[in-house]
Amino acid sequence: MKKIKNMDVEWGYTGDRGPEHWHELCDWYREGATYPYQSPIALHHQSNENQSTLKNQDSTTNELSFYYVQEHFTEKEFKNTLHFVPYDTQSYVLFRSDKYVLTDIHVHMPSEHQINGQQEGLEFHLVHMNEQGDNLVLGVLFNLSETGGLDIEKETDVIWDLANHSEWFNPIVFLPQEKSHFYYVGSLTTPPTVGPINWFVFDTVQPMSRQFIAQFKNEITENNNRPLQPIKDRKISYFTGVRKE
Ligand SMILES: [Zn+2]
Repeated sequence: MKKIKNMDVEWGYTGDRGPEHWHELCDWYREGATYPYQSPIALHHQSNENQSTLKNQDSTTNELSFYYVQEHFTEKEFKNTLHFVPYDTQSYVLFRSDKYVLTDIHVHMPSEHQINGQQEGLEFHLVHMNEQGDNLVLGVLFNLSETGGLDIEKETDVIWDLANHSEWFNPIVFLPQEKSHFYYVGSLTTPPTVGPINWFVFDTVQPMSRQFIAQFKNEITENNNRPLQPIKDRKISYFTGVRKE
């Protein structure tokens, strides 16, 4: 069943409405929290006692392929962060032959996932949905650069009109050239924290311009990262690439 109302009950990252209380705020959040495999989690390239990381045995590429195009977004603040929302859902990915359209791009500061014990300055989530309403999320980690790094408004073919909340860009701009990634099944990292969600977290950390992000300081709630969740008996896979079309 597709849930469309996601803002009924106010929640946050500190105090009485912080992450440790989300499941107490309403029945919907309580139900979501019962999903046993929550996100985010700590990811490691090497297997350790808490995690068995397995390289895919059959193939080094995952069954994910990108069909991203330049499209029209609007930016807005809700759910404690900045979101870029496409007007028409033209960009999509194919995963195991199922089509998931890109519905939302948003930001966590600092990163929610950690790779080899390292937390980064930023994590972008590219949220996708298939016809059944199942989610697939890409996590892309960035560190903040004082002198360079990704500044989307300066990329070619990008139209950036914040005054009118109108931006045209190809969401591929957020993804690293190198498509190696962790894959695991988890949950949304914000209420109602429902699962299962297919998670792809790229292990290439890219620089992003601090100047670019600074213009959204009023939209992004400080420390809007959910704490790490237990891995339990989950299998985490690591893939060195994605299928080329
Ligand atoms: Zn997120």
